[in-house]
Amino acid sequence: MNNNGAKTALVIGGGIAGLEAAKQIGQAGHNVILVEKESTLGGTLRQLHSSFPRWENPSQLLFTKMAELGNCPMVKVEYSTVVTSSIKQDSGFLVRLKRDKNVDKEVEVDAVIIATGFSLFDASAYGEYGYGTYTNVLNSLEFEAKLNAWAEGQNQQEIPKTIAFFKCVGSRDRSKGHPYCSKICCMYTAKQAGLAKDLLPDTKCYVFYMDYRASGKEYEEFVRSVIEQKHVRYVRGRPAKVLPEGDRLVIRSEDTLMGVPIEVRADMIVLASAIEPSPGTREMGRIFGLAGDGYGFLEPQYGRAAKAGERIFVAGACTFGVEIQGAIQQGAAAAAEVLALFNQDV
Ligand code: SF4
Repeated sequence: MNNNGAKTALVIGGGIAGLEAAKQIGQAGHNVILVEKESTLGGTLRQLHSSFPRWENPSQLLFTKMAELGNCPMVKVEYSTVVTSSIKQDSGFLVRLKRDKNVDKEVEVDAVIIATGFSLFDASAYGEYGYGTYTNVLNSLEFEAKLNAWAEGQNQQEIPKTIAFFKCVGSRDRSKGHPYCSKICCMYTAKQAGLAKDLLPDTKCYVFYMDYRASGKEYEEFVRSVIEQKHVRYVRGRPAKVLPEGDRLVIRSEDTLMGVPIEVRADMIVLASAIEPSPGTREMGRIFGLAGDGYGFLEPQYGRAAKAGERIFVAGACTFGVEIQGAIQQGAAAAAEVLALFNQDV
């Protein structure tokens, strides 16, 4: 604590949850060190083209959050920086930061918020889908880059005539170590298929699904609008195999609602891969001694620090799949926990 009573929070991860947490603590008059491993802020949000369920512009949201952060002189951003170790002290931590390859420094902080996000499962584990073999089989974040390019008028020479989306790739599959439902991929797949139809009206879009889970405000209406107004065809069935045919890909599946085999020729396949804890999330769990759940996600413990008495809080997709607004709420909640702790310390 400095002379005017301000304390210092360390926020690890500059995605939307970390940005919100840093802003709220900074606006309350405390120092914040916001550590981001990349050279820019925004995390996954920076890669997205539109959001669900209201087709909002993620770039605009990020611009607003960055402007808010820019108006917080108490927040110092450390770019291209990672946390490499932490030593517990009486009422906080001595944390070592490493910037780029070789600049180290130590900082004393009074609380820590971990917001290190998620990674996507490597879908090459499903050899039958050809991810990593065929260049036109993409994961969902790679497809966001395609959407951004098409929206900017780029890559017009490679507009696909047909795009097929496969859901639950790696999720709900014990054999791949992910028995869980990843929670957000039904919705972002509907968003991506709907956007593809908006940007490329002559392109046919198929979504292969086992279930769709749309349990959120306006979610069900969102998926129905993609099916009924944007004419995306949902096929209930799990594709068995993808085979090359010239530049195209042949998808063999069964339409389990109709009880008939179905074969679709696609120019692009998008895999909604399971979410996993990011390497940074696993590393922060190790450094700060958090047990996490059975899969490596960090467990929020609302009303107390993630590790009781240890002044560590967690927010965003390092805890599990979460949509944009949920990540913002979790960032705000973690900030509120830190501020309550700081008030107790006075
Ligand atoms: Fe499958 Fe949907 Fe769950 Fe994702 S959210 S794992 S696509 S059921």
